[in-house]
Amino acid sequence: MSGASVKVAVRVRPFNSRETGKESKCIIQMQGNSTTILNPKNPKEPKTFSFDYSYWSHTSPDDPSFASQNQVYNDIGKEMLQHAFEGYNVCIFAYGQTGAGKSYTMMGKQEEGQEGIIPQLCEELFEKINDNNNEEISYSVEVAYMEIYCERVRDLLNPKNKGNLRVREHPLLGPYVEDLSKLAVTSYTDIADLMDAGNKARTVAATNMNETSSRSHAVFTIVFTQRKYDSETDLSTEKVSKISLVDLAGSERADSTGAKGTRLKEGANINKSLTTLGKVISALAEVSKKKKKTDFIPYRDSVLTWLLRENLGGNSRTAMVAALSPADINFDETLSTLRYADRAK
Ligand code: ADP
Repeated sequence: MSGASVKVAVRVRPFNSRETGKESKCIIQMQGNSTTILNPKNPKEPKTFSFDYSYWSHTSPDDPSFASQNQVYNDIGKEMLQHAFEGYNVCIFAYGQTGAGKSYTMMGKQEEGQEGIIPQLCEELFEKINDNNNEEISYSVEVAYMEIYCERVRDLLNPKNKGNLRVREHPLLGPYVEDLSKLAVTSYTDIADLMDAGNKARTVAATNMNETSSRSHAVFTIVFTQRKYDSETDLSTEKVSKISLVDLAGSERADSTGAKGTRLKEGANINKSLTTLGKVISALAEVSKKKKKTDFIPYRDSVLTWLLRENLGGNSRTAMVAALSPADINFDETLSTLRYADRAK
C-alpha cells in the first residue's frame, strides 16, 4: 500500500422499524468484496462496486454472514492501530446518511460485543502499552474531542469554552485549533470517561442550538507519543502519531429534508466539508494510483479537511467505512454513498 491509499469498507445495517413499517424491500446484495445495489424503479440494471470490505448485517446476528463489531474492528481498527505504532498518522472515518450506522460503527453501544471501533481501539492501545516490558520505551497518550458544525469548531472536552475556536497554522506542525483542550490519559477508563462527557456535551450543545448532532462532524483525536531511550548514546528519540477518529455529519442532501433559510445554509456548509473531503480523498487516491508525488489537494477548502491534513495525505494511513441502509426507500442516498466510497479507492 502506498502512502496515500485509502482502505474502503461499506457496511449495510438491518432494517429499522420505519423501514419494516413501510414494508421496504432490501436493495443491497453483497458477495465477497462486492456490493450490488438494485434500482427499485429499474431492477434490471443493478450497479456493482467493489471495496476492500463489504459488510453484511442485514440478517439476524446469528447468521454466519453477519459482520460483527469485532470483525469490523479486527479488519480496520487493528491495522490502523498497528500503523500508529509504526509512527504513521492515521484516520478512520464513517460516512453515510443519518441513521445508516455511522455512530454504531465508530462508537457502538456500551454492551458486551457492541462496542464500536473507537472504544475497541482505545482498549487495545492501552493493552499494548501495558504489555510493553522494554524499559527503554515509554509512551504517552493525550486526547482531544471536537465538533465541527457549519465550518466552526467547538471543544467537546471543555463545554465551558462555549465560543467557536480559531483554526490556525503552525509553521512546522501545520493546522491546529487554538485553545482546544488536549488531556493526558493513562488508562482506557480515562478515555471512556472523557468520551462519555464529550458525547453528552455534544447532545446538550445540539439541543441548545436547536440542531441535531447528525448535522455536525465529531472528531476524536488521540496523540500517541513513543519515546525510545538509547542507553549507549544517552539520547532519546520520539515518534508522535495522531489518530483521528471521525463520525461525519449525515450525508443527506439539504434539499431532501425540505431545508429553507438557515437550514439550507447549514446544509451547504455541512456538505462543503463532506464534498471537500470527497475531493481530497479522491485526489489522494489518484496521486497514489499514478504514483505521482505531487498534485493539487484542496485541503484548505473546508475546516474538516484542513484540520485532517496531516492525517489524510503524506505520512498517513486512512480508512473509511460507508454506512448503508438496506431499504428501497433510501435508494438515492445509498447510491450516492456508494459513489462517494467508490471515488475514495
Ligand atoms: P448514524 O450515526 O449514521 O446516524 P446510527 O449509528 O445511530 O446511525 O444507527 C441508527 C440505528 O441503527 C441505531 O439504533 C443503531 O444501533 C442501528 N444500527 C446501525 N448499524 C447497525 C448494524 N450494523 N447492526 C445492528 N444495528 C445497527
